[in-house]
Amino acid sequence: MDFRDSPEEAQFRARLRTWLADIAGTFPTSGDEYWAKQGEWHRALYEGGFFGLSWPKEVGGQDLPPVYDVILDEELAIAGAPPRPSLGYLVVGLGHHGSPELQQRFLPGMINGTERWCQGFSEPGAGSDLASLRTTATRDGDEYVLNGHKIWTSYSDVADWCLLLARTDPEAPRHKGISAFVVKMKQPGIEQRPLKMISGVTKEFGQVLFDGARVPADQMVGAPGEGWKLAMTVVGHEREPSTLGFAARYGKLVRQLATRVDGPIPADLAWAAVEVEMLRLHVRRRLSEQLDGIVHGPDGSLDKLLMTWVDQSVGHAALAVGGTRDPELLGSYMYSRAQSVMGGTSQIQKNIISGRILGLGA
Ligand SMILES: Cc1cc2nc3c(=O)[nH]c(=O)nc-3n(C[C@H](O)[C@H](O)[C@H](O)COP(=O)(O)OP(=O)(O)OC[C@H]3O[C@@H](n4cnc5c(N)ncnc54)[C@H](O)[C@@H]3O)c2cc1C
Repeated sequence: MDFRDSPEEAQFRARLRTWLADIAGTFPTSGDEYWAKQGEWHRALYEGGFFGLSWPKEVGGQDLPPVYDVILDEELAIAGAPPRPSLGYLVVGLGHHGSPELQQRFLPGMINGTERWCQGFSEPGAGSDLASLRTTATRDGDEYVLNGHKIWTSYSDVADWCLLLARTDPEAPRHKGISAFVVKMKQPGIEQRPLKMISGVTKEFGQVLFDGARVPADQMVGAPGEGWKLAMTVVGHEREPSTLGFAARYGKLVRQLATRVDGPIPADLAWAAVEVEMLRLHVRRRLSEQLDGIVHGPDGSLDKLLMTWVDQSVGHAALAVGGTRDPELLGSYMYSRAQSVMGGTSQIQKNIISGRILGLGA
């Protein structure tokens, strides 16, 4: 495959560079300020014509090949701009399982950023073992009544809507009694409590308590009991190669770290540089496969694991170079610790790889 830009891609890259140069320095890249302004950043990208590039036109996307997302990720990194908000997994979840009415109603606002979303899957007793979730949705006329407790819900403080998993049939086998809903967040019976991260960030996520909140029955996504299927689509997509476009961002940080070293390059930094290059080549291979129409199943777990290794290697390198004195580098190390937990832990990815790719175990 030829990885040079086609004339159209080169034109897109040039337009993006000019746009980024015009707005340089106006958006924060880390900490609470970044999370507080993420919605504004999302809308700015969309209005500039740079968000939802590979999603369908009918719902506000541009139907472009996935390589445009990678160009976007690369140019954002080069410009020192924040990453694009990641919500492809929600778009895919609703896109694959929602009725045409639900898709038309909700996907445009999700993509253009006028409506903010969160994902209400994990609970205090149900993370890796998601099928043991206990939040209930009980039918009452044309509505369901919600009771339960979600945790680690990213963007729950600003979300207008939540893609929620709840148990609708307590008698059914555990995977079959779960349904998915689009739930309005700002209503009586929903309380959001922020969680402070080890990096000091307080605005990224929280816990959400449901106490008699309501959702119209026609906002169930898919049929009753089909929530597990949606969950598998969503978590599978959280691990897909399109989310690996961070290679350029890591590469830039590694090069910046190298300029701060006086003596010999620390081993952690050298290793991070090797891993970043490996990730860059891996993203290209996956892109090439995507363009050939190859759909990845459990391979997404390999991608997630690789991305986690690279993220944490770069975090270690940041710590090796900056020590604990540089708050931004320390923050990037701290945040990298979360990578092996969010979107499914590394141990769970290894279970999937051993069982579904290598055919090991029961
Ligand atoms: C930054 C961040 C953002 C997040 N955002 C969201 C969000 O928006 N929405 C949402 O719903 N959730 C979100 N999560 C939650 C995330 O999906 C869960 O934390 C994750 O699935 C792990 O679940 P848990 O925390 O309950 O850990 P547990 O499942 O309790 O796991 C604890 C430890 O046991 C290990 N373990 C568990 N089961 C097995 C097994 N079968 N084999 C081997 N080891 C095992 C795990 O690997 C882990 O090391 C987020 C998490 C983070 C860190």
